Amino acid sequence: MKASSSIRNLVTGGAGFLGSHLIDHLMKAGEEVICLDNFYTGTKRNVEHWIGNPCFELIRHDVTNPILLEVDRIWHLACPASPIHYQFNPIKTSKTSFLGTYNMLGLARRVEARLLLASSSEVYGNPEVHPQPESYKGCVNTTGIRSCYDEGKRIAETLCNDYMRMNNTQIRIARIFNTYGPRMLKNDGRVISNFITQSINKKPLTIYGDGSQTRSFCYVDDLIEGLIRLMNSSYSAPVNIGNPNEINISKVAKIISKQFNNDEIFEYLEMPLDDPYRRKPLIDLAWRQLKWKPEIDFMDGIEKTCNYFRDANSL
Ligand code: NAD
Ligand code: UDP
Repeated sequence: MKASSSIRNLVTGGAGFLGSHLIDHLMKAGEEVICLDNFYTGTKRNVEHWIGNPCFELIRHDVTNPILLEVDRIWHLACPASPIHYQFNPIKTSKTSFLGTYNMLGLARRVEARLLLASSSEVYGNPEVHPQPESYKGCVNTTGIRSCYDEGKRIAETLCNDYMRMNNTQIRIARIFNTYGPRMLKNDGRVISNFITQSINKKPLTIYGDGSQTRSFCYVDDLIEGLIRLMNSSYSAPVNIGNPNEINISKVAKIISKQFNNDEIFEYLEMPLDDPYRRKPLIDLAWRQLKWKPEIDFMDGIEKTCNYFRDANSL
């Protein structure tokens, strides 16, 4: 029996980059939040400003183990997102994706909560269709070094759909494209945080391959707004949430060098295996179903992110 009338949220991976921004939003909206995290890539610092607030609880727990809680909404984000972290122990990454999603769906079923899965553009693999609509089935290597993550997200989506078909569990699936902003870890190996950290330290920017590969980067505030609209909607099929503003990695390196008034000094390194060559979301569905589209321009988002890293570096 629930004493208060506010929505009770469980955010798995809540101490991470996206999870902590989501928690800020939910707490500011006056909702209750349980943040569940094993602190693999997340840190207590990301949520410390809520510790002591009666609407907030922090639980150290690994989603590969079941947990009993009473909640209305499960935002299932727990999973390392950066290639160096998810490749560090790929078997654990597969377990987190499969067992973690299975356990959270079991919880959702028992308490009749709605579950939103943080899926990924990686379900499209190295896409042969460009830009990528939700109807594209993907081109994913099952045996490569990215497979634990890519296939992990695919099986997680499958599990969600089977829970919906068999148990009427309410599911929402966000296919998140590359997102950046404050609270990315400076050493997490993703391109934006790498380039900013290298610029601050006056080191050459490490471009993998010739830098012609593309990504489409979404600022974190836009992404969180998309997740919230999806959770609040009645749409249960996967939805791309990302910014279609496609840019190549060389251009990103130039823009970030300029933010720090550095000379353009780049070090060209070998391209990682299975690194997708192009990536850009089609977001017509998000607009039709959620009336969502990103608002923050790349140059503005990069400036905010660089300022965050500068401030964090001077602490
Ligand atoms: P992140 O690494 O900052 O956050 C992941 C969080 O999950 C961390 O706090 C980590 O400690 C926690 N975690 C990992 N394994 C866990 C486990 N077994 N049990 C409990 N907690 C665990 O990554 P992020 O960028 O915030 O990504 C959040 C989610 O969004 C992930 O599921 C990721 O796959 C997805 N996603 C992110 C992006 C992106 O660009 N950031 C893109 C696509 C999808
Ligand atoms: N990348 C790069 N230099 C870096 C880190 C990444 O050139 O220091 C490239 C990487 O090869 C990829 C792109 O930038 O083509 C985005 O990499 P990231 O790890 O941020 O995201 P993902 O590959 O998972 O989309």
